[in-house]
Amino acid sequence: MKAIILLGGPGAGKGTLAGLLQGKTGYIHISTGDMLRSAVQAGTPVGNEAKASMDKGELVSDAIILRIIDERIAEEPENSCFMFDGFPRTIEQAEGLDQLFKKYSGTLTHVFCLDVDQATLLKRLTGRRVCKSCGAVYHLQNKPPRKAGVCDIDGGELYQRADDSESTILNRLEVYKKQTAPLIAYYKKQGILCDIDAKGSPEETAALVLDVLNV
Ligand code: AMP
Repeated sequence: MKAIILLGGPGAGKGTLAGLLQGKTGYIHISTGDMLRSAVQAGTPVGNEAKASMDKGELVSDAIILRIIDERIAEEPENSCFMFDGFPRTIEQAEGLDQLFKKYSGTLTHVFCLDVDQATLLKRLTGRRVCKSCGAVYHLQNKPPRKAGVCDIDGGELYQRADDSESTILNRLEVYKKQTAPLIAYYKKQGILCDIDAKGSPEETAALVLDVLNV
């Protein structure tokens, strides 16, 4: 197994970037946020346990996250390439991931750190709308759907994520600074951190990453 990590605060554009990169690289997109939201919707034990933390913008326990990641990796063939989005989010998760690389004889080749200022993050998050049925992501100003409130792809209803309310966003930014930002130093020490200017359009950001990946 080979993997890259997309690291960045809420609203940095990890999910959108992953969507673009997946088509161009064949890397399998693994978003713990998407996995948890599906689990909440399906009412599974993981979903029920995760929901309260997610609604507050707090992190779900490292043990749950590492378990669902392990199970997800195990579903794919041995030589797969993964792109982690929203994982790891703590030093403990990064250490757990190191163990998974040992277990699956994997290599972490790059950690892309998406750099965006806080004002842009806030604008991206408050305007974000998501399709209830297919998960496609829109933005009221930057990427509006053709018909307000309706997904262009499958006609599904667009909704605002519960954790995209202004007060929860501020908490998520704090959680990022305290618990996730230390990963920057963790991966810098390993010599695999790559800073990416993510203030531009998703296509511009994807081009910068593809350049580094040599694709
Ligand atoms: P995201 O879609 O990545 O913004 O994640 C939404 C929410 O899911 C986060 O605010 C957390 O509550 C939870 N979550 C997602 N990924 C993780 C993770 N790796 N560790 C802990 N909690 C997570």
